[in-house]
Amino acid sequence: MADVFEVDRYDAAGRLGELEVPRAGVTVETPALLPVINPHLQTVTPAELESEFGAEILITNSYVLYGSEDLREPVEQQGLHELLDFSGAIVTDSGSFQLAEYGEIDVTSEEILDFQYDIGSDIATPVDIPTPPDVSREQAESELATTEDRLAAAAEVDTGDMLVNAPVQGSTYPDLREQAGAHAAQSGLDVFPVGAVVPMMNEYRYADLVDVVSAAKRGLSESAPVHLFGAGHPMMFALAVALGCDLFDSAAYAIYARDDRYMTVRTTEHLEDLAYFPCSCSVCSAHTPAELRSLNGDERERLLAEHNLHVSYGELRTIKQAIRRGSLMELVEARARSHPAMLDGYRALLDHADRFDECWNVQPPFGPFPTELADGYPLTA
Ligand SMILES: [Zn+2]
Repeated sequence: MADVFEVDRYDAAGRLGELEVPRAGVTVETPALLPVINPHLQTVTPAELESEFGAEILITNSYVLYGSEDLREPVEQQGLHELLDFSGAIVTDSGSFQLAEYGEIDVTSEEILDFQYDIGSDIATPVDIPTPPDVSREQAESELATTEDRLAAAAEVDTGDMLVNAPVQGSTYPDLREQAGAHAAQSGLDVFPVGAVVPMMNEYRYADLVDVVSAAKRGLSESAPVHLFGAGHPMMFALAVALGCDLFDSAAYAIYARDDRYMTVRTTEHLEDLAYFPCSCSVCSAHTPAELRSLNGDERERLLAEHNLHVSYGELRTIKQAIRRGSLMELVEARARSHPAMLDGYRALLDHADRFDECWNVQPPFGPFPTELADGYPLTA
């Protein structure tokens, strides 16, 4: 497909852009957050996401729909947009996550791509192999070869005006990630998720995450739209945007809410530890933590999920304003101070910064990167 992504403005390697999604007939402003919708359990409905949060794009799992006794027929008849009641862009995942979790799935990459097309997905995903961190090089190479075969096969399928994701794998081997990025860029596919990074984020390995994403970016063309798969906590959005990621998906807003966890841009709090809400969203203005604790489980979960979404969308607006103002790196630094592992990630980002322009084909219009933290905090560990 022709270029569907246009960068409007840079700050460091972060950028404001527009992703044209022709099948949905919409243009999505980036960086963008894609709330993950579990079709069986809509904590916050897609219609509410659209009307109350201004969501332009969301993501759901086509493999869950494909295997669902209740929803497969309705989605085949009505299509995704009507089933979910959402008029923006809908991205579908393919079952790769289930493959990583359970070791097998009962559908081929071609079958699930056809299914995604049939139900009206706007951005579909082939079944790639999400190789976890720290596996042997042999395993990473062989699984990457399978992923690359599937991307090549996906590029052969006539998908009309549906965009198709080309996930970039390669485990924790930067050279494989770079090679995978270069291969994906030449595949003719449209959007580029950096995959299998959730285990790194769960273990607070932000420096490794930065190395992996930077390597993938070196392989991809500078103007490729990049999706950081599974990056759902607002505390890391600024760092990820500064690396040049454009799309984020969040299941965390709902999963955390289920366990009474309350997100902030610096950390995650447990509802029972809070006497006051440090937030002015509609939920936090209307309730005290004690009131929320007294509500029944479903109502409490819904309100916590709404707060978690408010704080996530709010952080993205803060980031977009920072890019406009040319102060993204100050924001990244402020967020990095919330956790020692985030500071490691920030250091790794600055480590890569001076290599960006020599690694990319075009001279990127970067703003200056800082060489030290504002108060002289050492940047080398
Ligand atoms: Zn709030």
